[in-house]
Amino acid sequence: MVIGGGFAGVFAAVKAHDAGAKVMMVAKGGVGTSGLSPFAKGVFSYDPKTAKMSVDEFVAKVSESAINTNNPVFTRQLAEHSYDRVQELKSWGFFDSPLSRNSFMLPIQEREIPVVERVMVTHLLKEKGRVVGASGFSLNTNKVIHFNAKTVVLCTGSGGFKPSGFPVCDLTHDGTIMAYNIGAKVTGKEWNDGHPGSAVNSGSCYDNWHGQIEEKPSITSVMVNHHLGVDANYQAYTTGAPVTMGPPQPGQKKQKAETSEGPYVPLAFRQTDMPPPPQPDRGLLSIFSGKGHSGPPGMGGEQVGGSTAGMAIHKSEGIVPIDETGLSTVPGLYAAGDALGSYMSGGIYTQIGGSVAGSAVQGTFAGEVTPRQVNNLISLL
Ligand SMILES: Cc1cc2nc3c(=O)[nH]c(=O)nc-3n(C[C@H](O)[C@H](O)[C@H](O)COP(=O)(O)OP(=O)(O)OC[C@H]3O[C@@H](n4cnc5c(N)ncnc54)[C@H](O)[C@@H]3O)c2cc1C
Repeated sequence: MVIGGGFAGVFAAVKAHDAGAKVMMVAKGGVGTSGLSPFAKGVFSYDPKTAKMSVDEFVAKVSESAINTNNPVFTRQLAEHSYDRVQELKSWGFFDSPLSRNSFMLPIQEREIPVVERVMVTHLLKEKGRVVGASGFSLNTNKVIHFNAKTVVLCTGSGGFKPSGFPVCDLTHDGTIMAYNIGAKVTGKEWNDGHPGSAVNSGSCYDNWHGQIEEKPSITSVMVNHHLGVDANYQAYTTGAPVTMGPPQPGQKKQKAETSEGPYVPLAFRQTDMPPPPQPDRGLLSIFSGKGHSGPPGMGGEQVGGSTAGMAIHKSEGIVPIDETGLSTVPGLYAAGDALGSYMSGGIYTQIGGSVAGSAVQGTFAGEVTPRQVNNLISLL
């Protein structure tokens, strides 16, 4: 049973099916239309043919940027497997449309994987120390539904106590809470997603993405960063709004973080100038080269920051894995993507596009291993 219909859920379901499992997907929204996945427009691909650094160097650079808060096992996994996942996304037509519904549903429908949408899972079921299914309720009919399953992969996305405004910041910790309630270890409640929120109409997700939702996704390559508005949040906290996010524009004063005050920024990542314009100049990358947008989407207009009660930098909160497949401390229960506390990038968001690519990669690892776990279980019984 795969819970969630974003990047992690789709890859988990497809890969589990291809490895021989009988799979079912459940999502409280729609596959490709719910969670944070529909917002993402940049997908990271480490292409060994064009990357200007080796995988070892990439892992080292991310670790430096994250001040070693990352788990290098998952950082390496991202680099080594993102290219293959991006090729699959291409073959499903993901990069041909601004909307991901059709491309996400294509491999699911080809494999005839049953999908139950608009069912909110509220409880995981455990017997004899092992997860045996889940229960939830339908948003369409007045029904409670129980699912039996030999393994469950939680692809339920992130959690964060953060007001809306970026345009949608984080989800509701569903997976974390359900897993915690049956005894799984969870992690990551100390991190701060530094995206500032719009001061005006902050709950209006579509408007706050400033047309970005209508752009086709594109592929990003190696560009390790150390900024995600944490400094802007600090600035807003100390001096009040308005603040701006990202590297300083020409003529603009340095950000607070580069002074002696504010969050620590490793020397190699202290930006005083705009980064060189990335190529190609489209999609998400155009945000950073200043074409087509007056600033990063959701970050134009008056910004408020410093309002996060901690939490939820993608991939550094959620269910604690005990191995590289995302197995939790509860037998039979896996997690992938934002639901997994993999620490792929550590306490800061280091690689643009790494978050969705990481969800796809982690979904693949969890999906591929689950049939083997089921077979082991059957032979034990
Ligand atoms: C505005 C915005 C822009 C972003 N841009 C980028 C970008 O350009 N590049 C990048 O790499 N990352 C980006 N990110 C981050 C990225 O979108 C997420 O890290 C990624 O989509 C997470 O994928 P996921 O599959 O793990 O979870 P999600 O896509 O969040 O999917 C969660 C799924 O779980 C389901 N679900 C949750 N709870 C339950 C429940 N109780 N019962 C049943 N179903 C449930 C939801 O319906 C949904 O289908 C962005 C995020 C935002 C908010």
